[in-house]
Amino acid sequence: MSVILTRDTPFEATVPLLVVGGGACGLTAALAARDEGVEVVVLERDPLPQGSTSMSLGALCASGSAEQKRHGVDDGEERFFQDVMAKTHGTADPLLARVVGAESGPALDWLAERHGVELVLETGWTPAFGHSVMRMHVTPGRTGADLMERLVAACERAGADILTDAHVTALYADGERVTGVRLQRPDGSTEDIGCDALVLASCGFGGNHQMVAENIPSMAHARYFGWEGNQGDAILWGKALGAGLGDMDAYQGLGLLADPQGIDVNPRLLIEGGVQVNQQGERFGHELEDVSGAGARVIAQPGGVAWVIYDDRIHQNCKELPQYKVLSGLGGIRSAPDIEGLAAQAGIDPAGLARTMAEVAGFVASGAQDGFGRAFPGPALASPFYAARVTGALFHTQGGLLVDENAQVRRVNGGLLPNLYAGGGAARSIGGPGPSGYLPGAGLCMAVTLGRLAGRAAGRAVKG
Ligand SMILES: Cc1cc2nc3c(=O)[nH]c(=O)nc-3n(C[C@H](O)[C@H](O)[C@H](O)COP(=O)(O)OP(=O)(O)OC[C@H]3O[C@@H](n4cnc5c(N)ncnc54)[C@H](O)[C@@H]3O)c2cc1C
Repeated sequence: MSVILTRDTPFEATVPLLVVGGGACGLTAALAARDEGVEVVVLERDPLPQGSTSMSLGALCASGSAEQKRHGVDDGEERFFQDVMAKTHGTADPLLARVVGAESGPALDWLAERHGVELVLETGWTPAFGHSVMRMHVTPGRTGADLMERLVAACERAGADILTDAHVTALYADGERVTGVRLQRPDGSTEDIGCDALVLASCGFGGNHQMVAENIPSMAHARYFGWEGNQGDAILWGKALGAGLGDMDAYQGLGLLADPQGIDVNPRLLIEGGVQVNQQGERFGHELEDVSGAGARVIAQPGGVAWVIYDDRIHQNCKELPQYKVLSGLGGIRSAPDIEGLAAQAGIDPAGLARTMAEVAGFVASGAQDGFGRAFPGPALASPFYAARVTGALFHTQGGLLVDENAQVRRVNGGLLPNLYAGGGAARSIGGPGPSGYLPGAGLCMAVTLGRLAGRAAGRAVKG
């Protein structure tokens, strides 16, 4: 990935605004630019725009949305900001936390009202993992693939072009000003396209083993369960142009990757009262505290695996979730009328599991918190019981380019790069360093919120 510094403009064509990457961030940026009446082309390396967005559960957190108001949820910038700062122990970028707190709800409302990307409040996601109120929104299909389909359709309606099989391999720049890009086609041919401004929406560096090893050594040997094409290009280009980087060791891990099926298990199994145990049948943490840090905690268990244990009530509540249905169809869900039978099916130590389940029942009955600080409001788990085997993985990286309140890229030494914008996984997120400041739904929230800000600001700049 290089930056070609040249005053020459060898471009076959010029487009006012180019966007690199056709995931949630890139497509949202394109929609915002179209609202400004600006011609925009999204360049996507793959034959179809999918990205990590299409692999995700498609659940976005947002504050102050019309959907929250409709459900009587009192939320907004200040509450979101306080949650982010509490979750990250004050290490998140306060400006960005406020911007996202103020802009995420309006971004979702805008996607729904202006561009027909319907998003509803997911009432099964009661407050957990650092959210103090209900904030998760999903499209009706409740998957990231469904969100992508709706964004692609919205781009078609809005006249935002998406050029696929267009792998951007270099940026052209005159000093700090980006003048265009070089892209490579699957047959090896290259094209040079000029632009007045550029939005980097090519996500983080999870697919780049060397960058993961350098920046997040603790996850260097963990499984990467994100989009392979996310190779850190935006970060490398930004850095070469003098951009500042932040929280490069931040990442979203998850201890809920079905093993061996490789399907994202919905945290609702835990939120609704399930627990997570290891092979010995022992719990090893507060299941609702740190959704992202749980990845490393599960990897640290014997065999690098754990089981989510729940009951029929939770199974009934979740059985229509798309990923759950697939996992069930693949035989990834075990069930038995009693704990002993479940332990035998799953290969968990029966005495350990029986002890743990008796303890959990005791916490439900007494209302006391367990040793990890988790409360069990009930109802008590009851027969038949269920188990899903999971492992931990690196889902996506959270560190990246520093941006301002318009998603414009900040220089390392202060000030802004003149015509470069970034969002989604390409930009520094609001989770602070490491994995544990990650709030569920923040990945997609950063993609659409910063995507909209970037597309709008870049659109206005090129018009001006
Ligand atoms: C399994 C899984 C589950 C998740 N679940 C959730 C969830 O429920 N809620 C949530 O908020 N977050 C979730 N996340 C995180 C979320 O998916 C990401 O934060 C979000 O999708 C990032 O959006 P993006 O547009 O920045 O990146 P992406 O959606 O990954 O899009 C980036 C695009 O850029 C393209 N690209 C890369 N380099 C180039 C290049 N040089 N030239 C051209 N194109 C390029 C890629 O091919 C890709 O299509 C999950 C992640 C995973 C992996």
